[in-house]
Amino acid sequence: MIKFTDLELDPRVLKAVEDAGYEKPTPIQAQAIPFALQGRDVLGIAQTGTGKTASFTLPMITMLGKGRARARMPRSLVLAPTRELAAQVAENFEIYAKHTKLTMALLIGGVSFKDQDRLIDRGVDVLIATPGRLLDHFERGKLMLTGVQIMVVDEADRMLDMGFIPDIERIFKLTPFTRQTLFFSATMAPEITRITQEFLHNPERVEVARQATTSETIIQAACVFKPSRKDRTAKEKRELLRALITGEGKTLTNAIVFCNRKVDVDIVAKSLKKHGLNAAPIHGDLDQSVRTRTLTGFRDGEIMFLIASDVAARGLDIPNVSHIFNYDVPIHSEDYVHRIGRTGRAGREGRAITLCSTAEEKYLSAIEDLVKQPIPRIDPPNAARHADKKPPRRAKTAEPAAPVTAVETVEETAAPEQAAPAAEKPRRQSEKLREPAQNKQAAGKPSQDKRTRDKRKPQQKNGKNAVVGMGDHVPAFLQRSL
Ligand code: ADP
Ligand code: MG
Repeated sequence: MIKFTDLELDPRVLKAVEDAGYEKPTPIQAQAIPFALQGRDVLGIAQTGTGKTASFTLPMITMLGKGRARARMPRSLVLAPTRELAAQVAENFEIYAKHTKLTMALLIGGVSFKDQDRLIDRGVDVLIATPGRLLDHFERGKLMLTGVQIMVVDEADRMLDMGFIPDIERIFKLTPFTRQTLFFSATMAPEITRITQEFLHNPERVEVARQATTSETIIQAACVFKPSRKDRTAKEKRELLRALITGEGKTLTNAIVFCNRKVDVDIVAKSLKKHGLNAAPIHGDLDQSVRTRTLTGFRDGEIMFLIASDVAARGLDIPNVSHIFNYDVPIHSEDYVHRIGRTGRAGREGRAITLCSTAEEKYLSAIEDLVKQPIPRIDPPNAARHADKKPPRRAKTAEPAAPVTAVETVEETAAPEQAAPAAEKPRRQSEKLREPAQNKQAAGKPSQDKRTRDKRKPQQKNGKNAVVGMGDHVPAFLQRSL
């Protein structure tokens, strides 16, 4: 077994890792760190939640420990596709570099150019940025990239989805040819392979799990349903979602509900809220400050159901969730793997339930082909037909004061509609007990409040359109507000 102390990291980094409570490196860390420390280019392929951030930040901090920053010329550059992900890397960097004197700047939308310019002017060791914002700074003549010795591209497949590949290519060309590149992606689409071939020099490829494998600790199911009438599909789908949620009873402590379309993210969140569930939406059209608040609320256990689009959720470090619901079957099979990877982490059992209308069955079979296993079908719970009613007041008033065990008993005996709202409070307590470190980490997240250029070329590549993730065709009745 490889220990962190076997990895020739700077003692100050080792101390920070020990402070963070990590016992041993994750497989991607154990494999990537030695190559990175040798100055080799690394192509890391690993799913979300495998510890990729430390696999590049720890060697970076070690290597940057020698030498000093020069004005306007950052010595290293980390590119992340979204503001949240960039902020998350910055958070991690602060944790791992806390015993060093390395300086860092975060270039993301929503922070004033002036403040960011001041930091860059002084000189930073590490610059963490979204591609659009970095180029904005560069074009304003405030930044030189010729001093970059190490460049990291994180979540490359998401960069591709968001149309950032041309920006990445441009940034590569602005940095010295002799730089070291650490490149991470969960999957290797042909376009990603192409840029790694062009810009990485004889990279060491480290891969931790076969592409598109799903964790064995995730119990998967698909509920195929046929709407009674086509114009009732959306309403019946929402009923079915509630019935499935209720059917999970006390095993459901928190959940992410994925929708293919932004418009549905809002509708589903509104609908769950209306039915007494503690839900909040997250997608790219929401103001940055709202997104940050929602995420923090979800991590801290104040929000039980996060309704999300693929782009908004990808790569975010969300503590273990008990359940994933796919409100729609993802059209791109790989998104299924990413979505359900949000549960069943660190050996805990998770459940992933996919709602599948008869029209979506073809996408479900494509997913089964990709993950090379059948997804068991389940019947819609009986409650689906009645789930439209609001939960009785009784359930609500009983909720606040009830201790954990008492509420769990209520859940077991309560009618299905009542169980889920009643489960909200106790989850907060148990979640806090389970994930103290991560919750603390989330609280320190910087907040940003404006949306800027990060989204300016959404979904250009891969034949996708501007609607988050997918969206072939959106029938008018689906777009109507509730
Ligand atoms: P990825 O970028 O692959 O999605 P992250 O770097 O965000 O994964 O890490 C996921 C979670 O695992 C984070 O909460 C991080 O603090 C934790 N983590 C990372 N490395 C280790 C380790 N060696 N031991 C325990 N936890 C770790
Ligand atoms: Mg990551």
